[in-house]
Amino acid sequence: RGNSVKRDGISSQLNTLLIKDIQGVPVVVQETASVHDAVIQLFLENVGTLMVVNQDGFLVGIISRKDLLKVTLGNPNASTMPVHLVMTRQPNIVTVSPEDTVLEAARKMVHFQVDSLPVVKRDNHSNLLVIGRITKTNMTQLLVDLAMEV
Ligand code: ADP
Repeated sequence: RGNSVKRDGISSQLNTLLIKDIQGVPVVVQETASVHDAVIQLFLENVGTLMVVNQDGFLVGIISRKDLLKVTLGNPNASTMPVHLVMTRQPNIVTVSPEDTVLEAARKMVHFQVDSLPVVKRDNHSNLLVIGRITKTNMTQLLVDLAMEV
């Protein structure tokens, strides 16, 4: 294994490793959930970003720590607001598919300056199904794993 890493080099490893090899489970919240509930969920699930789904379970938005901080500033009623008023919504969500390479995901995170990307599949009606998530933490773990192999 170690030899194959040396022979292939880190860059070809990054080009052959796929999202589905390192993705984690998605952490989702309903679009009707309140800002209060979203904050609680961030703590309970120990994540920085939640993927927002509609009642059919399809991806409609993404909400991060900064989104939640921003809405609470100077807004005493923020905690009861539904998250769909606060989230970043489609078509602005940057996503990856399970067959994309890890390098493509890393490039997207850097380029769009986001900490996480939903891993999605489209159904026959072009609805987005969230099947995983990829984060900067995954990437850092992968870096450590690759370093240990060499
Ligand atoms: P944080 O706010 O915790 O620093 P991010 O840097 O990931 O987290 O989020 C910055 C902004 O980008 C937020 O407004 C968030 O809604 C948005 N955002 C986060 N992830 C994505 C994504 N995959 N696609 C589009 N926008 C995103």
